[in-house]
Amino acid sequence: MKKYVYFFDEGNKDMKRLLGGKGANLAEMTKMGIPVPQGFTITSEACIEYTKSKKFPEGLPEQVNENLKKLEEKANKILGDTENPLLVSVRSGAAISMPGMMDTVLNLGLNEDTIKAIHKKTNDERFVYDSYRRFIQMFGNVVMGIKGELFEEILEKIKEKQKVEIDAEINVEGLKELVKQYKSLVLQEKGEKFPDDPQQQLNMAIEAVFSSWDNKRAITYRRIHKIPDDLGTAVNVQEMVFGNMGDDSGTGVGFTRNPSTGAKENYGEYLLNAQGEDVVAGIRTPKPLDDLKKDLPKAYEELIHIVRTLEINYKDVQDFEFTIEQGKLYLLQTRTGKRTAQAALKIAVDMFNEGVIDKRTAVSRIEPMQLNQLLHRRIDPEANIESIAKGLPASPGAASGKVVFTADEAEEMGKNGEDVILVRTETTPDDIHGMVAAKGTLTSRGGMTSHAAVVARGMGMPCVAGCSDIRINSKKETFTVEGKTIKKGDQITIDGGNGKVFEGKVPMIEPKMSDEFTLLLSWADDIRKLGVYANADTPEDAQKARDLGAEGIGLCRTEHMFMAPERLPIVQAMITADTKESRQKELDKLLPMQKSDFVGILRAMHGFPVIIRLLDPPLHEFLPNFEETLVKVTTLKLEKPQNKEELEKQEKILERIRMLQEMNPMLGLRGCRLGLLYPEIYEMQVKAIIEASVELKKQGVDVKPEIMIPLVGHVNELKPIYNKTKKLAEEIISKEHLDLVYKVGTMIELPRAALTADEIAKYAEFFSFGTNDLTQTTFGISRDDAEGKFLLKYVDEGILKENPFEVLDTEGVGKLVQTGVTLGRKTNPDLEIGICGEHGGEPNSVEFCHRTGLNYVSCSPFRVPIARLAAAHAVLKE
Ligand code: ADP
Ligand code: MG
Ligand code: MG
Repeated sequence: MKKYVYFFDEGNKDMKRLLGGKGANLAEMTKMGIPVPQGFTITSEACIEYTKSKKFPEGLPEQVNENLKKLEEKANKILGDTENPLLVSVRSGAAISMPGMMDTVLNLGLNEDTIKAIHKKTNDERFVYDSYRRFIQMFGNVVMGIKGELFEEILEKIKEKQKVEIDAEINVEGLKELVKQYKSLVLQEKGEKFPDDPQQQLNMAIEAVFSSWDNKRAITYRRIHKIPDDLGTAVNVQEMVFGNMGDDSGTGVGFTRNPSTGAKENYGEYLLNAQGEDVVAGIRTPKPLDDLKKDLPKAYEELIHIVRTLEINYKDVQDFEFTIEQGKLYLLQTRTGKRTAQAALKIAVDMFNEGVIDKRTAVSRIEPMQLNQLLHRRIDPEANIESIAKGLPASPGAASGKVVFTADEAEEMGKNGEDVILVRTETTPDDIHGMVAAKGTLTSRGGMTSHAAVVARGMGMPCVAGCSDIRINSKKETFTVEGKTIKKGDQITIDGGNGKVFEGKVPMIEPKMSDEFTLLLSWADDIRKLGVYANADTPEDAQKARDLGAEGIGLCRTEHMFMAPERLPIVQAMITADTKESRQKELDKLLPMQKSDFVGILRAMHGFPVIIRLLDPPLHEFLPNFEETLVKVTTLKLEKPQNKEELEKQEKILERIRMLQEMNPMLGLRGCRLGLLYPEIYEMQVKAIIEASVELKKQGVDVKPEIMIPLVGHVNELKPIYNKTKKLAEEIISKEHLDLVYKVGTMIELPRAALTADEIAKYAEFFSFGTNDLTQTTFGISRDDAEGKFLLKYVDEGILKENPFEVLDTEGVGKLVQTGVTLGRKTNPDLEIGICGEHGGEPNSVEFCHRTGLNYVSCSPFRVPIARLAAAHAVLKE
C-alpha cells in the first residue's frame, strides 16, 4: 500500500516534492526539536490521484485515521470530544510556495458541543464564540464556496447595531448572534446545514484543498510563475494553538534579515491577542517585532534564538510565522524568505563573509532577472517636490501612472500599453493579474508583510502599502488625501523605496550599482565561460555597456547613423541619385560622418572587439512617406507651379518611393542584397571603418574592428561582398604600414544560412546569430505584426509556451542555431560564434547559448549584468 500520510516526525526538509514546502519544513523543525504544534501531512501524490479520479485514493482514509489517532494521543485531546476536544488547522502547501491557492481553515472541530467543553476549560466565553464565528466564516467561504462578502455584510450590520468599530469590540451576545446568522446564511446559500460532525468537517476540508490545486487563482499563478501543473499540493493537518487567548498571547511573522535591504536584523510584525492571518490581513496595524521584547520578553528571547538556529540550519534567510499561546511560543511555518534584488546581493555577500556559504552558492542565490530591479529608476532626491501622502516602503523602485481601482482595469489598460498604478484598500490573490499589469501598487491598509507587499517584492515591482493617509472611495473611483481628490485616470507617482506618494509625474534618476553588486558579478565573471557583449550604436551606449561589464560590442547598427537629421537629406539624395557618379558624390559626403561615428565607438571600446554591421534595412525607410509626398507634389502643382525646381525634386522622390515600395519589406531588398545592388554603399562603410581604425591605431588605441555582412541566405551572396571587403581593407592598411587585426564575418539569420553554414563559413571569420530575424523567418511570423495581434494570445492560450521573441525557441530556432554551429565549425574549428538578438540577455536563452558552445552573447547594455549572471548560472547548473 502506498504511503500517503506522514506524521511531522517522519519527514524532513528535503521532502518538498512530496510533502510540499510547508509540510517538509514543519517536519524539519520537528526534527530540530523546535516547538511546533504537532500534526501530519497528506502528500501531493494523494492530491494528484484525487485530481484524476475525484475521489480519495485507496488507503488514504485509513491512513488519515491512523495519523489522527496518533495526533490525538500526543495532544491528549480528541477530535469532536465533548470534554477535551482537539481543534486543527487544515493548510495547503505545494512544493513551490503558491500564495494563490487555498486559504487555510483554522479552528476545525468546533460545533455546538465542543464549544461548551472549550468554554468550560478556558472560562472565556468571548474567546470561544470568537473562534467559532471565525471558523464558520472561513469554512463556509473556503470549503463551501460561499462568497466572503456575504459574511462581511452580516458582520458589518452587527457592528453597526453594537455601535463598535473593530471586530474585537463585539461583545459575546453579538458573537452569538453572528454564529446564528452565519449558520442560516449557509443553509440559505447551500440548501444544507453547516456540518457539525468534525470528522465530516475534516474530510470536506481535505477535499477542498485537493480541489484548490485546480482553481482559477492557482492556475493563473502557475502560469505567471511557470510552475508545472502536475505537482499537486500537500495538505497539512495540525493541532491549533491560540494567539487570541488574552494579552499574554499573540501571533506574528518575520524574517531573519531585512528583506528590503538585506541588513541582518530582527525584522517582523506581531499583534497581541490575535489569531492566524490577522497580521497579514491588515485589519489592525501590527507592532514591529522588537516591541515584543517588552511585551513578552521570554517568548521573544526564545523566538530570536530559534530563528537564528533556523537560518544556520537552512543556510538562507527564513521567513517565519509564530504564535504565542499564554506565554508559550510555537513556530508555525518557516521558508526561504523572498527578497529584493538589493537585499539578495547583500545577503549573499554577507553570508559568504560569515562563512555560511561559498562563492558559487552566493552567485546561484541571485535570480538574473531580479537584477532588473537594480537597473530601476528612483525619484530624483534633488527634485523640489512635496509628497501628498506617506505609507510603508514595501517594495523599492519608483513608478508613475494613471490611477485605477480594480485589478481588471489595471490589466486592461496595461495591455493597451498604458502605465497604471493600482490603488486598493488591500490586495488579495484575486488581484495578482492587475498587479502584474500595473507599474506599481498602492494600498491604504496592511503592513510590510501584507499580501500586496509580499507579492510586489516577489515580482520586483514598486509598492507602497498601508498608506492610511489616503481614503479610498471605490464606488466613486476616487481617493482623497489632505482634502484633495484624486480621480481614476489621474497621474500619480509612488516610491516604494521610501513609501512616498506624489501627485503627477515627477523627475527620476537612474540607479547606482552597490559594492555588493559589483563584487557578486565579479564572482559570476570568474565562473562563466560565455563572453558578454552589448548591442550599441553610439559612443554613449558603448560607454554604458562597458560600465555594466560588457567585453565588446556584438552589434553596432549603422542605419541609425543614416537617420540623423543633418544626414538624412544627404542619404535621400544618395538614394534618389540617377547615376552612379551622382550617388558617389553623396556617399563621399557621408564618408567623413560615418568615420567619425566609428572613431567614437572604437575609442570607447578600447581593447575590446566591436562588430559593425553594414547597412541592413530597405532603402525606402530613409525616404519620406509615400502619401505625404504625393500630397506635397499635388499641392505644388496646384499652388506653386512656378517653383519648378522643388516640384522636380519632390516628383523624383515620389518616383523613387514608388520604385522602392515593397509588399513585404521584411523579405525584400535589404541586408546583403542591398550591398550587391549598390556596392558603393558598403564600400563607403568599409572604408569608413578601416580608416577610423587606422587613425585610432596610430594614436595608440587598441582597436578590434569586425565587419559583419547581414542577411545572407546563399554563400554566393556572401562571397563577392567578402572578397571585396577584404581587398578594400587590405589596400588601405597596406598603405599605412601597420598591422591592423580585423575580421570579416556574417550574420546567420535566415534558415538557409544555418542549414548551409559549412559553405558560408568558407567566407566568414565569424558568425553572429541574429535570432530576431531567425525567429521571424523560422516561424514565418513578422514580429511587429504579430505581437500586437495574435502572438500574446498564443501564449495566453498555451499554443506557445513563451513568446519566442523574448525566450529563444530552443526546439525550432535553437535547432537551426545548433546546426549552424556544428556545420560552421566543421569548416573552421576556430570560428568565433555569438548571438546578437535580444535573446542574448534572457537567462534561459543564455543557458542555451552556453550549452550550444557559443563564444559570447550580446544584448542591450542594461541587460549585460543579467547576461553575466545568467552565464554563470548556466555553468553552475551543469
Ligand atoms: P498561508 O500559506 O496563506 O500562509 P498558512 O497555512 O500558513 O497559510 O496559515 C494561515 C495563518 O494561520 C498563518 O498565520 C498561520 O500561522 C496560522 N495557522 C495555521 N495553522 C495554525 C495552527 N495550527 N494554529 C494556529 N495558527 C495557525
Ligand atoms: Mg493563505
Ligand atoms: Mg503561512
